[in-house]
Amino acid sequence: MEDLHYQCLKCGVCCFEIPGNYSKRIPLYPEEVDRLIDIAKKRNIEFKVIEDLVFPDILNENIIVLTYKIKFEKEIQSCPFYNDKRGCTIQKIKPIACKAYPLSLKQEDAYNFRIDIDPLCKFVNNDENYKRLRKIDWKEIKKVFEKEYENAEDHLRKNKKLMLKIRKLEAEKKINISRKISLKEFDICLREWDRVEITVE
Ligand code: SF4
Ligand code: SF4
Repeated sequence: MEDLHYQCLKCGVCCFEIPGNYSKRIPLYPEEVDRLIDIAKKRNIEFKVIEDLVFPDILNENIIVLTYKIKFEKEIQSCPFYNDKRGCTIQKIKPIACKAYPLSLKQEDAYNFRIDIDPLCKFVNNDENYKRLRKIDWKEIKKVFEKEYENAEDHLRKNKKLMLKIRKLEAEKKINISRKISLKEFDICLREWDRVEITVE
């Protein structure tokens, strides 16, 4: 597998919404959102986010927000920081999820995530690469996506810290995350409750 090394094809697919039912998810931590809002203001471009990973705290009647995602708008349905000629215009300061891509975090259950490969990336779903990637283990995948794997590990570490913080708050009985809430009830909470962000370094 020595000769397979990830190289971005600069196709831009990861910065655009995927047609159909699939909803693009580029998770952003609250401090990343603040940073991107500042850049967008300076550049006079429209930048909107929607809530992504949230937990209902039934003790305080709050929605705890852990991550947001970029809202892709307008006809072209792309990230507002994407430029047709230059690609990503915030390359050095782009969100950790973009730095890790085509590796992403897959949610396994309420509190646990693992590193995964996004099959929508053009490098990954190239027939030849895909066949080869399917045959190798994570030790080799780490070598194929060297830098991206480091970033994905940072991303995962941060997610774990957030989950630990939530669990600690629960253990201290400062919050109570409901696990039995129905979709209908959750919808009402989303409409009526205040938002509280939880962040970690
Ligand atoms: S921040 Fe950059 S890499 Fe990430 S989706 Fe936007 S344009 Fe693409
Ligand atoms: S889809 Fe993959 S190859 Fe294309 S720009 Fe994104 S990371 Fe690069």
